[in-house]
Amino acid sequence: MDYKELADLIFPDAKTVEYYEGKYPERNLEEGAFVTRFAPSPTGFIHIGGLFGAIIDKKLAKQSNGVFILRIEDTDQKREIENGISQIVDSLNEFGIIPDEGMISETKSKGNYGPYKQSERKDIYQAFAKSLIQKGLAYPCFCTPEEIEETRKKQEAAKVRPGYYGVWAKCRTMPIDEVANKIKNGEKYIIRFKSQGREDRRIKHKDLIKGNIEFPENDQDIVIIKADGLPTYHFAHVVDDHLMRTTHVIRGDEWVSSIPLHLELFKALEIKPPKYAHTATIMKEENGGKRKISKRKDPEAAVSFYYEQGIPKEAVVEYLLNIANSNFELWRKANQDKSIDEFELLLNKMNISGAVFDMVKLQDVSKNVICKFSAQKIYDEVLNWAKKYDSKLANLLKNNKEYSLKILNIERSNVKPRKDIAKWSDVRKTIEYMYEEEFKNITNFEYQKINDPEEINKIVQEYRDNFFDINDDKETWFNKMKDLSEKLGYAREVKEFKKNPEQYKGHVGDISTVIRVKLTSKCNTPDLYEIMQVLGKEEVLKRLNS
Ligand code: GLU
Repeated sequence: MDYKELADLIFPDAKTVEYYEGKYPERNLEEGAFVTRFAPSPTGFIHIGGLFGAIIDKKLAKQSNGVFILRIEDTDQKREIENGISQIVDSLNEFGIIPDEGMISETKSKGNYGPYKQSERKDIYQAFAKSLIQKGLAYPCFCTPEEIEETRKKQEAAKVRPGYYGVWAKCRTMPIDEVANKIKNGEKYIIRFKSQGREDRRIKHKDLIKGNIEFPENDQDIVIIKADGLPTYHFAHVVDDHLMRTTHVIRGDEWVSSIPLHLELFKALEIKPPKYAHTATIMKEENGGKRKISKRKDPEAAVSFYYEQGIPKEAVVEYLLNIANSNFELWRKANQDKSIDEFELLLNKMNISGAVFDMVKLQDVSKNVICKFSAQKIYDEVLNWAKKYDSKLANLLKNNKEYSLKILNIERSNVKPRKDIAKWSDVRKTIEYMYEEEFKNITNFEYQKINDPEEINKIVQEYRDNFFDINDDKETWFNKMKDLSEKLGYAREVKEFKKNPEQYKGHVGDISTVIRVKLTSKCNTPDLYEIMQVLGKEEVLKRLNS
């Protein structure tokens, strides 16, 4: 028996590699177009690092008129959960990341290079595995888990590298007729790659982010087809990225050490590898050190955290581009009003060492993003968010649409628009007091310097009876605050007060704080004049009288 006959014995029905090469031809794209893919397992969970990768994939494809693929790597069926794919599709959608090709729901996909779910590509992997067996570059392995464990123990005792390689690879040298007999007798086996590498030789590789890297060659005879007939990640990604005509594999740092193996697999299959770019791991600062953001310990590891909090997708994407590309911040400073789509992401400007994820900075970015939104957009987004996460707020907004739009519009058209909202979960506390039905339940009034109830009453009554007129323009309104201050023994200007503090009870700022707190319960609010205009005469009087 020869290798070819052995291959036929193992995979009698497999089609040829040429068949698939014809079925998935080179793509007809313009020069320089990127074909990228995001390739998660269908665990339903997207880690912030995964989103980071997907944003980069999508951006690189879009800015080069290329293709962005969503491929589902479900060869480890133990890790699957129900609706795992649609959850991933939905999460990506939440951030505006729509694949050009690949899975679009739990079961549906689009594009001509599918199936896009690895479990449906079994026959394709078998064709490629068969071609390796035919060339003597892959072989069946009959070792039981117990035998593998025994080998591992011997290696440990002998203090040598663990794994299935060289002299430790028992089945590697099994005579072909013995192999054939075992298969015919129905013995269980898997398929291993027959590595031609040597640990004492090194390979050089140019990573598009990390630059030149060097590793020992791979010499492990890794499993390529498992007992269930499905491939391992290593083998599947090689076949898929080739047939999907991926030009750039952008993936996490944890895969960089597999480069020698992956390049060897491409070589054995006689196909050209894509370019690789390994992105820095997203880290978190803790106790003066840095560590990986962990799915177990950190709620912010899951992308669902961001939409539960109501951080708008534009802010998350903008922030992640910020930590991805060292030139983003400068670009943003110079192009404050441009859409993110106009920023060109460059792989050679990517952060090389672990990127630190900073929640405070994210919220800062978010405030800057939200301050440019229109009241209508904020209204729509908050309502959308609140329907899921804050039904009380949703009702307030729904039942008072026009009024809510006015509230959200306060200080929005200024040259320096309000920046008090970092996430939709902040909105309730920044607007709640504007609604009559909520205001009446508030018991905590944040009076500051002036907190004597008698003095407060005096100020409020004086204001109500002699100074308040809803028709005043802003300047008149402000002058009346000064007049009120003067009348009650407070300085008209803060400056004046500072010069002669002993002459006054306080200053105009203290007076307007009293009015502010009386009308809103808060000591910090957006512009009080605008607030009063939105509240309207009747409501202002009601609050002054309360
Ligand atoms: N399924 C792999 C993962 O989730 C994909 C890695 C890759 O992008 O090639 O880590």
